[in-house]
Amino acid sequence: MNHGAEKFLDILYPRKCPGCGEILRPQGRLICPDCEHTLRPLTACPDEEEGDAPALCMKCGAPLADEGEYCRMCTMHPHVFEQGRAIFIYNDRWKRSLERYKFYGHREFADFYAAAMVKWGGDALRRWNPDLIVPIPLHRQKERERGFNQARLIAEKTAARTGIPVSCDLLLKTRKTAAQKKLDYVHRRRNLKDAFSCSRRLSGERVLLIDDVYTTGSTMDAAASCLKSAGAGPVFFLTFCIALR
Ligand SMILES: [Zn+2]
Ligand SMILES: [Zn+2]
Repeated sequence: MNHGAEKFLDILYPRKCPGCGEILRPQGRLICPDCEHTLRPLTACPDEEEGDAPALCMKCGAPLADEGEYCRMCTMHPHVFEQGRAIFIYNDRWKRSLERYKFYGHREFADFYAAAMVKWGGDALRRWNPDLIVPIPLHRQKERERGFNQARLIAEKTAARTGIPVSCDLLLKTRKTAAQKKLDYVHRRRNLKDAFSCSRRLSGERVLLIDDVYTTGSTMDAAASCLKSAGAGPVFFLTFCIALR
């Protein structure tokens, strides 16, 4: 969309703040100043001297309750992916925000999500140095129903901000699966087995998976396992939120 058309649409449908849902003022911001002040990213920027940022699980990036390198989930269940980071805890604010984004047409929120992931995930991104960004796919039918794939839009905007190429037709969700929410850990794994497929062979590329929320890691593992069978090198993930278990 060209700039003029975008401006015109902003007047018709003013952009909302992804934090509080109010109309964004002043224009041109991705989040309102009030919400910005209350942001508590898990991965604080080195130039921001957060100080109170928690220690994170070396594997999945969950805040650690006690000493040690890995969270309880990652200690109990080894993962297929190498490492991942999420920027915020999946609390009521972000739950509401992501619902507005996914189901009520507020696709403009993806700009903020991607900006936050690049800003506060920057250290990890430099360390991982991915060759390719891949969004967690939706099954075709689900994408049609929803109108878009929320992970894909965030992945495309992350790619635009970092210059890392994005591939949206590499990983496909080929089998419809029951909603993960209602399932326990073992059933989540079973539910996702062979649910993904790869459309082409890879040759050792370092892959960064993108999704909106990380929960148990079973989706990331199923995706990583599919990518690795197709020849991918190390697989990492970056998500906007992580749900505490
Ligand atoms: Zn706000
Ligand atoms: Zn962990």
